[in-house]
Amino acid sequence: MSNRRNFIKGTALGALGALLLPKLSDLKSSKKNPSSSPGLPVVISTWNHGLPANDAAMEVLMNGGKSIDAVEKGAMVPEADPESMSVGYGGLPDRDGHLTLDACIMDHNGNCGAVSYLEHIKHPISVARKVMDDTPHVMLSGKGALDFALSKGFEKEDLLTESARQKWQEWKVESKYQPIVNVENHDTIGLLAIDKNGDISGACTTSGLSWKMHGRVGDSPIIGAGMFVDNEVGGCCATGMGEAVMKTLGSFLVVELMRQGASPQEACEQAIARITKNQNYKDMQIGYLAINKKGEHGAYAVHPWFNYALHQNGKNELIDSPSFLG
Ligand code: ASP
Repeated sequence: MSNRRNFIKGTALGALGALLLPKLSDLKSSKKNPSSSPGLPVVISTWNHGLPANDAAMEVLMNGGKSIDAVEKGAMVPEADPESMSVGYGGLPDRDGHLTLDACIMDHNGNCGAVSYLEHIKHPISVARKVMDDTPHVMLSGKGALDFALSKGFEKEDLLTESARQKWQEWKVESKYQPIVNVENHDTIGLLAIDKNGDISGACTTSGLSWKMHGRVGDSPIIGAGMFVDNEVGGCCATGMGEAVMKTLGSFLVVELMRQGASPQEACEQAIARITKNQNYKDMQIGYLAINKKGEHGAYAVHPWFNYALHQNGKNELIDSPSFLG
């Protein structure tokens, strides 16, 4: 059995050999670059819950607001929506029934804040913002994050909805520990925005993988993994199996590739290639979104079913991302 497994692994790795360190010119971007007509201000975000989030963020930008306020406002939309079962209120719990939330935020000056393993607070993105604005730290976690939020006037709430509790009860019948991503096609929200001044900010907020091990924290609150911006270059955010993103520090990688001259599309494809070359990508979805300083964007995923919302040039639309397997 183990020989067979090794053989399959060896063959798969052999076939993947060609994908090691692909050249920019070898990637699929030439065929499917979703960047069209760039224009500022712009907001881009993951999944279909990105549409209402973009609207809220764009309203801030159109009123002359800063990108950091826009991404926070945008992220708060799915956080407050009980229908969004992978972000904030209404999110699916871990395998022990606890809803633990992760979020991070970063502004154009490189300031950032994050919370992880936070319970009972509806807007983790705003707690992350307070960590950024009011403390000398980048991340607060668990009870410390909760205590900090309460000290800042946030309200302690029961965020597990009846529907999420029921889904957890159903899962417990088999209790199969196999974290599944993107079950309902509306996962983590990552947002990137460029305001009228050309300043870039990003936000990312999630309840993480449903039925995750208690205490598990994914990529979303990790600056450089779930999200990263550099005002000279651009920004990136990630969704999907956080472990794969953390192992490759995906969002930082995308921004650094853009710094070296890659387009947002090429950079997202390179970062996905970094995952597919040596991780078992068949069972996991990962999606990257990126924008550069000019407002051009790129998106790429492992599987075909990743989409994102782009608000640019007066239009807010949902777009299917190209993918490695699509
Ligand atoms: N990236 C998130 C995590 O790993 C989950 C997701 O986006 O699906 O926690």
